[in-house]
Amino acid sequence: MHVVHTINEVRAAVAAARKAGKTIGFVPTMGALHAGHGSLVQKARSECGYVVVSIFVNPTQFGPTEDFSKYPRTLGDDTTLCAAMGADCIFAPAVEEMYPEQNLSWVDVEKLSEGLCGASRPGHFRGVTTVCTKLFHIVLPDIAYFGQKDAQQAAVLCRMVSDLNFPMQIKVCPIVREADGLAMSSRNRYLSQDDRRRAVCLYQALCLCKQQVEKGVVSVSDLVRQISEVLTAAGGAPDYISIVDAKSLQPLHVIDRDALIAIACRVGPARLIDNMLIFLNPLRFQL
Ligand code: AMP
Repeated sequence: MHVVHTINEVRAAVAAARKAGKTIGFVPTMGALHAGHGSLVQKARSECGYVVVSIFVNPTQFGPTEDFSKYPRTLGDDTTLCAAMGADCIFAPAVEEMYPEQNLSWVDVEKLSEGLCGASRPGHFRGVTTVCTKLFHIVLPDIAYFGQKDAQQAAVLCRMVSDLNFPMQIKVCPIVREADGLAMSSRNRYLSQDDRRRAVCLYQALCLCKQQVEKGVVSVSDLVRQISEVLTAAGGAPDYISIVDAKSLQPLHVIDRDALIAIACRVGPARLIDNMLIFLNPLRFQL
């Protein structure tokens, strides 16, 4: 496995793989990798001839008061995990490599990026769509793999690729969870032992919501109240609790179609997100 730091190097590696007739799979990450990222690499490995993982903590998607400077950077461990999962190349550029000058060009996906995390993190998705555009132009993948863990990000990027005719496909992979249900996240490293025990409240709240819908509760305000009670009882501070149309991400008043339950909640120093899809007709759920 190669570890490269420049755009020229990764372009050369990908060009050689393509010349050899290989399809290119791409897994963009911010590093501090865990088994959730690993599942994306494995999926790419199973479907593509050449697998690139990017590791880049992208400054343009962090707000001024957010955790850009303290975001965990663990390239040594990340390299070990990527090699074990079968990646062919890690692209780990410096900020100056990706943004040699003040950035003046941005990609924006309207509507889908405005609610949920977009409302509490202004500018976040503009940073994500812009850096993914840059990475897609650098790597030129056939398929890029993203996690359902960041459901809104996945929806925004799928729409960007479709609206702007990127010649590639996006695949969205299931959320990987710890044994107790906590969604794996690089930010789980911020949790103390006590926070870690309480952090399972996001998953518990989502499961409770699912059970309530199965029992016939369809009022979004009732469901949101119950979710809020679970989170606050565990000492969490909800940022948002939203139940939205699974495709448009527009708010629902009653669950009368496929829906996404999305939560952002502070537990100790960490802002954690989690979500669950509810498929109606036939009623089936993805955990
Ligand atoms: P990040 O490094 O947090 O930017 O995440 C990189 C990619 O890994 C994104 O597509 C995430 O949605 C995905 N990802 C992060 N955590 C998980 C998880 N627990 N299960 C599945 N995918 C994940």
